[in-house]
Amino acid sequence: MRQAHHQAARGISRPRGEGTTRMATPRVEIDLGKIAHNVTALKELYGSRGIRICAVTKAVCGDPRIAEVLVNSGIGILADSRMANIRRMRDAGIRARFLLLRTPFISQAEAVVTFTDMSLNSDLSVIERLSEFALKQHARHKIILMVELGDLREGLMPSDLLGAVKRVIELEGIQLAGIGANLACFGGIEPDQGKMEELSLLAKDIEEEFGLALTYVSGGNSANYSWFMSTPDVGKINNLRLGESIFLGRETLQRKPIPGLFTDAFKLVAEVIESKIKPSLPFGQVAQNSSGQVPGFRDLGEMRRVILGIGLQDVLVSGLTPRAEIDILGASSDHIIMNTHQREYVAGDEVDFDLNYGALISAMASPYVEKLVM
Ligand SMILES: *Cc1c(COP(=O)(O)O)cnc(C)c1O
Repeated sequence: MRQAHHQAARGISRPRGEGTTRMATPRVEIDLGKIAHNVTALKELYGSRGIRICAVTKAVCGDPRIAEVLVNSGIGILADSRMANIRRMRDAGIRARFLLLRTPFISQAEAVVTFTDMSLNSDLSVIERLSEFALKQHARHKIILMVELGDLREGLMPSDLLGAVKRVIELEGIQLAGIGANLACFGGIEPDQGKMEELSLLAKDIEEEFGLALTYVSGGNSANYSWFMSTPDVGKINNLRLGESIFLGRETLQRKPIPGLFTDAFKLVAEVIESKIKPSLPFGQVAQNSSGQVPGFRDLGEMRRVILGIGLQDVLVSGLTPRAEIDILGASSDHIIMNTHQREYVAGDEVDFDLNYGALISAMASPYVEKLVM
């Protein structure tokens, strides 16, 4: 008992007893209480200065058990990059408005109008197609026009924005609900005070030029935390779309924990399938390994090498951090090899990991990884 407790505290556990039912591995354990805490805290923090948040569900593939917690914590708009995830949440009866984050595929325009309330857009030909289907369905589809502020992923160049707005407000079945920007995703560009002032100014220009009010001025994502904490004035920014800071409790410019949030709402658990003392240096003629690399190793003498029943087909292994003081030596498609620094393991022991965003999205999307809510 003491032994088991001691080990669990260090991120290892040993399911005990003959015939004990074991939980499936590999699995992601999801602490819904911690997610509820994080989303409530972020809603209050940003809300204190007039910024409402949409919860971005793509990292959890729109898991309805998590979506429900977000809605019960006061989130009104769930945002996802993929139609499949939005359909999954809708089919599960989640009562929220749904925002499609990735600019719609022309081939999905009809489904976008049918199954979402609103989408982020940056291409006029796509918006025209949305308009066609909205007219057919006697619906009004809301759009947020994305502006390119330097990260060089999606968005209209600022100089093209007013022209695009002019065209969009002529389109029947389409309602211009706002403008938005997305930074720190591709180019690693910070959403700083200058960028946010630029977005506010563009919003003001549109409102004055066309005599309309924009419902949403959506300043960005989890990377906007530092700007928010330091800005003297949020300007016209009244919306953010948050994923990582809700699920992993971090801002995303430096990946620093946000004070008061949980960074461990998700835990990956894998099972030991072999544990042996072996050399640290592979022996024989060296050629390519399974990744097509010719690996190099240092001779550290003999070590305890533990193999886990999880690999690159299950999760982005480079995004895992063991909770115990043990090291990942490498991985192949179905195995992770670990140096446990003499710590003893036996087959059947469980090893726990923290996940970064890349590891989280891969594990949540993998059909081989069980998702267990706590
Ligand atoms: C993924 C995404 C977000 C959320 O980003 P986080 O860093 O997880 O907060 C926001 N907006 C867009 C357009 C996205 O694609």
